[in-house]
Amino acid sequence: MKILVVDDSKIGRMSVIKSLEVIKPDAEIFQAVNGLEALELFRQERPDAVFLDLTMPVMDGYEALKRIMEVDKNAQVIIISADIQNEAKLRVLAAGAKNMYPKPINDENMVQIFEQDLSL
Ligand SMILES: [Mg+2]
Repeated sequence: MKILVVDDSKIGRMSVIKSLEVIKPDAEIFQAVNGLEALELFRQERPDAVFLDLTMPVMDGYEALKRIMEVDKNAQVIIISADIQNEAKLRVLAAGAKNMYPKPINDENMVQIFEQDLSL
């Protein structure tokens, strides 16, 4: 299974990866630091799931989500963001994200994501 983790903050990426390594130890993990890099890696690697931050330089998570869904309408994207306003959540769900979780994500969230949000 290929997983793409996108966050401009290294701490943000590491917290997602730390949980992934517990819950999905066999996953092949790719990292991107902005939306543009994420889009390029998505095209190249076609990951099974994407963990995507919203606030990033160069290309933010909203734009990256939109473009990823244009590349593959069945893409499975989970938003991990410090912006926990309901408006942000509604916006990303409307754009095709499977769900949205507040930072920092924990192992319980990760279990829930793989059991309820993603179909892999
Ligand atoms: Mg950020």
